[in-house]
Amino acid sequence: MAELERLFRMADEAAEEGVQLLADLIRFETVNTGVMPTGSELPLCRHLRDWLAGEGITSQILESGENRGNLVARLPGSAGTPRLLYMGHIDVVPVENPQDWRFPPFSGTVADGRIWGRGAADMKDMVAAELMALVILGRAGIPLRGDLIVAAAADEETGGKYGFGWLAEHAPETIRADYAINEGGGGPVPTPAGTAYEITVGEKGRLELHITLQGEATHAASPWQGDNVSFKLAEVLRRLQNWQPEIDVSQPFFKELAALLGRGEPVTVGNVDALADELSKVSRGLGSEMRGLSRMTLVPTMFNGGVKSNIVPAVCELVCDVRTLPWQDEAYVRRQVDQVLAGIEGARYELIYTAITNASQYDTPLAAAIQS
Ligand SMILES: [Zn+2]
Repeated sequence: MAELERLFRMADEAAEEGVQLLADLIRFETVNTGVMPTGSELPLCRHLRDWLAGEGITSQILESGENRGNLVARLPGSAGTPRLLYMGHIDVVPVENPQDWRFPPFSGTVADGRIWGRGAADMKDMVAAELMALVILGRAGIPLRGDLIVAAAADEETGGKYGFGWLAEHAPETIRADYAINEGGGGPVPTPAGTAYEITVGEKGRLELHITLQGEATHAASPWQGDNVSFKLAEVLRRLQNWQPEIDVSQPFFKELAALLGRGEPVTVGNVDALADELSKVSRGLGSEMRGLSRMTLVPTMFNGGVKSNIVPAVCELVCDVRTLPWQDEAYVRRQVDQVLAGIEGARYELIYTAITNASQYDTPLAAAIQS
């Protein structure tokens, strides 16, 4: 415990250094448009490599494309394992109107107790914190059992083809770890039992459902001669509105949440919605999360049909946004869609995955350590 106290003190003392590091990171314009040449993460990788070398920490740069780079630094542990990987991305999204910014987006200005700039919150802040943690542990000379690895990668904002995707394919050993911490979780959440912090271990999947409905065109002056597809659309929309998703409270989130609600009863399939409503009064976000993590969503978002104001439309396309829980595979989604479209003549559909659902184990020594 005394060692932990010493580390916290060292972290406090290094606060200004951390601020400067983040400001430096922001000054590198690592804007990622998704169209090459873009990103330009390599100069920033070189800057970090030199800075780490000054701290006696070796790192390597893995170039994944022209001017694209990934930096991996390691503080070796005596036994090598369990390895912990701090993940971060050093690319940022483009700036639309620089003149709208209070401070130039790549200035890394420190003002009003804040650090301003593109990437200050997503996610050069966390990269700076991860690197400072590595450096402080190195300075403290604390013997580690397993390796601590920091990977500052390129190209997260457009899918990671030159970043973690590239590393996983071409240099998996450099980032192989037993545990990994990435951006996304960790935010403070108000609950009836006080502020809590979330550990995110998975994400819902996302699919696009493209439904095509087929009718028969005719002149609008004699609609009885055709089959107006808009009424099929109306029926499909009505069914989607009434669609009842299967409720599932098996995610570890619900077990942890029960304690924070201070009601002495577990969250169940039967009470989850009532509890979500109640919780929304204290925390709108957490109440919404209770709903989101307990069901698949299937939401109509776009529709398109008709070619002329005096023609009965024959074809209509309806697009829905679908979000799935970790155990809900494509076959599960298809069963739901088949049910919605049952008996509607001329209905076809296609499912397009834009993100496959994933979940890591929650019940781990790392999660326990974070909690304690
Ligand atoms: Zn990010």
